[in-house]
Order: sequence, then C-alpha cells, then structure tokens
Amino acid sequence: MKAIRLEQNGGPEVLALADIPAREPGAGEVRVKHHAIGVNFIDTYQRSGLYKIALPSGLGLEAAGIVDAIGDGVTRFKVGDRVVYASGPIGAYAESNIVKAAQAVKLPDAIPFDIAAASLLKGMTARFLLRKTFRVERGHDVVIHAAAGGVGQIAVQWAKQLGANVIAVVGSDAKAEIAKSLGADHTIVTSRDDIAKRVREITGAGAHVVYDSVGKDTFMASLDSLRPLGMMVSFGNASGPPPDINPLALSQRGSLFLTRPTMFHYTATVEQLDETAADLFDVIAKGAVKIATPARYALTDAAQAHRDLEARKTTGSLVLAP
Ligand code: NDP
Repeated sequence: MKAIRLEQNGGPEVLALADIPAREPGAGEVRVKHHAIGVNFIDTYQRSGLYKIALPSGLGLEAAGIVDAIGDGVTRFKVGDRVVYASGPIGAYAESNIVKAAQAVKLPDAIPFDIAAASLLKGMTARFLLRKTFRVERGHDVVIHAAAGGVGQIAVQWAKQLGANVIAVVGSDAKAEIAKSLGADHTIVTSRDDIAKRVREITGAGAHVVYDSVGKDTFMASLDSLRPLGMMVSFGNASGPPPDINPLALSQRGSLFLTRPTMFHYTATVEQLDETAADLFDVIAKGAVKIATPARYALTDAAQAHRDLEARKTTGSLVLAP
C-alpha cells in the first residue's frame, strides 16, 4: 500500500511516498481502509522533531474509512463498518492503518468521510477544552486564538452555543471575517492589535479563560488578558513552544490557573472517547457546529499540505485523499 514515510526529522521535504506491505490486524485491532485522512498541526511537530517520534516512521493520527479486517476478540466493530479515529497509531497518511478497536468510533451515516477526518481530532479537542478543561458557561468572556483554523472554527461555534462572549484572535482581516461569520462577538488581528489591551477594552476585568494554541508569540499576552482567578489554557505551539514561566507570574497577575492539556489524556479510555465523540457528532447533527468543507490534497501532496498549514495560508481543516 502507499504510505507517507519519513527517515529523519526536518521540513516538509522529508515526507516521501513509499510502498509498504499492509499488515493484518492483531488481537483487539481493526484495519481501516482510508477514505479521508486528517491533517493536524501536531503532524508538523512530529515531522520537525519538536515532538519526538521513533524513526523511520509513518505520519498522521487521524483518518476516516471502512473496516476491512478485524483481529481476534473485536466485538466493537465488524467488517464494513464506517469508522473514524484520531489517536493514531502514527501512520494515518497511508491507504490504510491498523488501529486499536478501542481507539476508533463508529461514524454516523449522516457524516461524510471527509467531514469526519476534518473534525474528529479538532472537534474532540474543542469539546474537552470548552466542557472539561474549563467549563464555559453563559456570559463567560472567552478568548480563542487561531480562531479561523481547524480547531478554532469549531471552538468559536461551540463556545457561542454555550452562551460565551467570544473574542477571536486571528492573523488577518480575512480570517477575522471568517470568525465573525461563525458567531465571534469580537475579533483581534494579531498583526496590528495589542491583544491584552483589546481584551481589557472589551471585557473590563479581563477574560475568564484564554485558549492559546499559538504558544511562543502570544503566551505572555494571553496571560495578561486574564482576570484574577482566570484560566490560561496553553494547548499548542504553532509559533513555537511558550516561554518557561515562574509560578510567581501567575500570582502577580491575579492567582491565575495554568494548564497544558492534550486531547489524548481526555479521550484515553473507551468511555471518554465515546462520550467526547458522541457530543461532537451531536452538535454537528444539530447544526450547532458546522464543519467547513476541508481543503483536499492528494496523499502524494502531503508535503504541500504541511507547507500551507505552517505558512498560515489555510483556514478550517485539511484532509488528504488516499
Ligand atoms: P490551525 O488550522 O489552527 O493552524 C494553525 C494556525 O495557528 C494558523 O492558521 C495561524 O492562524 C496560527 N498561527 C499563529 N502563528 C503561527 C505561526 N508562527 N506559524 C503557523 N501558524 C501560526 O491548526 P490545527 O487546527 O490543526 O491546530 C490548532 C492548534 O491546536 C495547533 O497549535 C495544535 O497543535 C493545537 N492542538 C492541540 C491539541 C491538544 O490536544 N493539545 C489537539 C489539537 C490541536 P492565524 O494566521 O489566524 O494566526
């Protein structure tokens, strides 16, 4: 089968198409024949070496498709089921992947494969951030960075659904228009606005919570945007890892809370996975969260998808077509 492989860490050019043997699933595993593959920013961290992976390796954690073989003891799925997964194992950039049955979910008939691959990892992230890490409630002032991106578009709509006052932080006016069209109450454009100053003008006391996936470039401004006892959720490093921080910086700004969550810990058990995915499928089915048609690249163009994502050229989600 065709698969993207990397022998070493580096830029998008290290991604190479290879022909590798398709494996049979072992006990508790299923083989998923991919129809659409999710591209996520974490894939770029694993490619560059910011997040360590054993090399040589495949890449990609998320795909939607059809179960075409099952291993011993699997009762959760049968051959022919439509499924989607978002926790790997690494190697989703391929025509198929072997996945633990406990890490895949059945896909509702109403959700097409490309929408599933565009939304499971990013939507489950939005869900745990807004419902578990900090429980957003009506009237909360909520700052969402990279609001026109994959996670961002879902988070903006979901936060609005929960009744929040949503302040969307984006890199351009065109992206601000997208965030507004999704319901954001206010927009901040990073190239010209002072983030913390604008958040204080909008909220008075500061935000209840900031969801910061940009990292290095925005981390301190995000801390400065919070009200006393506010929650800083640092969940990504699109511009590079955030700076080291002394706990006193939290005290001085008003006894702030700081967390650095990852989706894998919030969807680690099959019960957590099913609950999180069901909640996502429910908001999609109701139309409360709309998933924009993803930008589609051929599997062979995975490197170009990475270039576009890292150059901030994309909005919404990207998928690869096997
Ligand atoms: P996005 O579609 O959001 O793309 C990243 C966006 O980050 C860009 O479009 C850009 O938006 C913004 N950005 C700001 N500065 C930079 C920079 N220097 N280089 C590149 N991008 C920059 O990607 P995803 O939806 O896949 O992921 C969003 C973020 O969420 C990532 O940081 C990812 O790591 C994180 N994440 C974390 C998870 C977790 O469990 N902790 C799970 C899933 C995602 P703009 O131009 O508007 O600034």
